[in-house]
Amino acid sequence: MTGLALTRRSALAGIALAITALAVPVHAQAPLQAVASFTILGDLVAEIGGDRVAVTTLVNAGGDAHVFEPGTRDARTVGGADIVFANGLGFDPWMDRLATSTEYAGPFVVVSAGVMPLRFEDEDEGADHAGHEHEHDDDPHAWQSVANVRLYVATIADALVAADPAGEASYRANLAAYLAELDALEADIVAAVASLPEANRTVITSHDAFGYFGAAYGLTFLAPVGVSTEAEATPAAVARLIDQIRATGVRAVFIESMTNPRLIEQIARETGATFGGELYADALSPPDGPAPTYLAMMRYNIETIAAALR
Ligand SMILES: [Zn+2]
Repeated sequence: MTGLALTRRSALAGIALAITALAVPVHAQAPLQAVASFTILGDLVAEIGGDRVAVTTLVNAGGDAHVFEPGTRDARTVGGADIVFANGLGFDPWMDRLATSTEYAGPFVVVSAGVMPLRFEDEDEGADHAGHEHEHDDDPHAWQSVANVRLYVATIADALVAADPAGEASYRANLAAYLAELDALEADIVAAVASLPEANRTVITSHDAFGYFGAAYGLTFLAPVGVSTEAEATPAAVARLIDQIRATGVRAVFIESMTNPRLIEQIARETGATFGGELYADALSPPDGPAPTYLAMMRYNIETIAAALR
């Protein structure tokens, strides 16, 4: 009898504790600590996470994730995270290494998991691949198509709900609101491309970061460097691009915020093409720049391209 009474008392104590825990106001909870590999992904996680999630991004605004070398501080950040987000498709393989080396045990979310990858056609296969191994030639820049970002944010929302079920209503509401923003963005991009003369829809950029954008919205992007900034442009690739620009009468060339502009400036000089401005490919601008969020970045890019080609 005594044992039963004790058991009943501790059960009651347990219920009392549970009620106390429930009575703590939501805003007093510590936010979920999320880590994202690069700024564009960090912005998407912050949009869906809202005030329940604190996001840390490893590659800063203006940084280049292709050649990022994580330090001990980044390892500590991943080690202390509640949830980790990577792009995948070969863009940020150092995230897997960080998670493994720190024995991080939380969810590892690859946001491109639902995306149908574009294959990168590399004409200089032999030359470009001589120095290092490539397991695949998937184009990693899937976020340059709004349709893919719909998949990214749905994956992010599902992962946050799994990690923090109490926040489900909040995450689902943020997702719905953001999907509406993506619809409006996509309509603006389609309208801007439709306003351009059909003969004038070719764009030169620093590296092949806009394949998904071109495939989705009907522009052709050419670049002297492949899908990773890791490789140097070969003289043969640059010469071929210059010939192509002269033959097709491409009007404008663009640099990317995170890469050295010298090569693109040289191509503009040699072909007489106009310098169209700076595009944001793999990284957002700082908060006071023209592309501090994914939505702002995509609008800034299409406005810059359309202004130069119109
Ligand atoms: Zn890139």
